[in-house]
Amino acid sequence: MVVGLGPGNRDSFTPEALAAIAAAQVVAGYHTYLELIPDLLQDKEIIATAMRGEVERARQAVELAAAGKTVAVVSSGDPGIYGMAGIIMEVAEGRVPVKVIPGITAASAAAASLGAPLMNDFAVISLSDLLTPWETMLKRLEAAAAGDFVIVLYNPRSHGRPDHIKTAREIMLKYKSPTTPVGIVRKARRGEETRILTTLQDMLAYDIDMLTTVVIGNSQTKVIDQYMVTPRGYRL
Ligand code: SAH
Repeated sequence: MVVGLGPGNRDSFTPEALAAIAAAQVVAGYHTYLELIPDLLQDKEIIATAMRGEVERARQAVELAAAGKTVAVVSSGDPGIYGMAGIIMEVAEGRVPVKVIPGITAASAAAASLGAPLMNDFAVISLSDLLTPWETMLKRLEAAAAGDFVIVLYNPRSHGRPDHIKTAREIMLKYKSPTTPVGIVRKARRGEETRILTTLQDMLAYDIDMLTTVVIGNSQTKVIDQYMVTPRGYRL
């Protein structure tokens, strides 16, 4: 089983995710996620790995499942969105059945906090170039901006690549107005959540890191009271 834990707090876990962890004999995951759920891990075999230990974690999980154990691989948010679901299936190659249990992804959590920015077509782009070539990412940013999509950026800024977010913004400014609303949500649903409503012009004045999701509006997106809203298109 590959289990989505949602963006943070226990109250955004689904009952199905909780039941899957309860039923597992082995729980595998990135150690900071496992540290969020110590009470759920009593009496279980644990495979904790560091970030970037995904392939090793997937192999161990598949081996234990092949040996007959019930294994839950936990991922933050939704495991099928930049999570562990794909690598588990690639490593399992059909040898063991894999069930994916969805979770609330960061885009949903951030959107709920900002208001209603994803009411129309949107594109999700990760600015991590660990697994996707930078040229591909540039092409996708360009295409999504040209298509007037609302754009959600995951992995927006890390120490290793502090300038990707600047480049992304420059590409956006080729197609979008500097006054386009931008929402920046950090630690959505993890306690200490912060949310900022700004513009494409001013967005770099705020802290953006790996715990942040950035939502860039389309040409219709507006701010109503304290909410970021992309009209669905209804006539009022
Ligand atoms: N599978 C996860 C995404 C993993 S990629 C999901 O579906 O949500 C990791 C990125 O997700 C982070 O860099 C950040 O951009 C975003 N993210 C994850 N949790 C978040 C949270 N609680 N608040 C804001 N952004 C979050």
